Amino acid sequence: MILILLGPPGSGKGTQAKKLSEQRGWPQLSTGDMLRSAVSRKTDLGLKAKAFMDKGELVSDSVVIGLIAERTQDPDCAKGFILDGFPRTVPQSEALDDMLATRSKSVDLAVEFQIDHEELVDRLSGRRTCSKCGEMFHIKSKKPLKKDICDLCGSALVQRPDDQESVIQNRLQVYNAQTAPLIEYYEDQGKLSRLNAAQSPEQVQEDLIDLIASLSVG
Ligand code: AMP
Repeated sequence: MILILLGPPGSGKGTQAKKLSEQRGWPQLSTGDMLRSAVSRKTDLGLKAKAFMDKGELVSDSVVIGLIAERTQDPDCAKGFILDGFPRTVPQSEALDDMLATRSKSVDLAVEFQIDHEELVDRLSGRRTCSKCGEMFHIKSKKPLKKDICDLCGSALVQRPDDQESVIQNRLQVYNAQTAPLIEYYEDQGKLSRLNAAQSPEQVQEDLIDLIASLSVG
């Protein structure tokens, strides 16, 4: 199963990818996580990517395509994988299709997470992320037991630099301009399904599992 989770920042792709990965064993491939790891390790790639990420701009197609081309060769990807935050531009989608074709594979399903942008600003600006394990919290809807401390590993919670309100608007504009066209790209291929991402995470998970099940049956 090669599954793409498509949707604006804050629509819950990462949360759902993680749950699905735990259930089905398909690894979650998040280019955002890969880039943040490169930033924290201060690699050449990380140093270059940071300036774009902090402003809410996309890093270059060639960088993220390279990351995915390499990661998908790992043995744990043999039975499939979940793409979270990739592709984000039409050239990335085309590169993905070409890359998979050379391996006699193709995308099975792209799921669009639909949600109003006002709800996203609230979700993103209140989001706090564990600096160590990456678990996500929210200052209103998913408070940690101890303020600013991760319930799971006890490390400090931080606000991602790009979750600051000034950057959020730009990320949403970038999504509309560069990523939203992928909806049509996968619709034209007959691979697009949609779900209501404003529902509870549990309900979204159920809907996502139903979509995958209907694909396996149909
Ligand atoms: P995310 O965690 O998916 O919201 O990604 C955080 C940031 O990483 C984005 O705002 C971009 O700067 C960069 N990024 C992640 N994935 C991609 C991608 N597929 N193409 C370009 N930039 C990306």
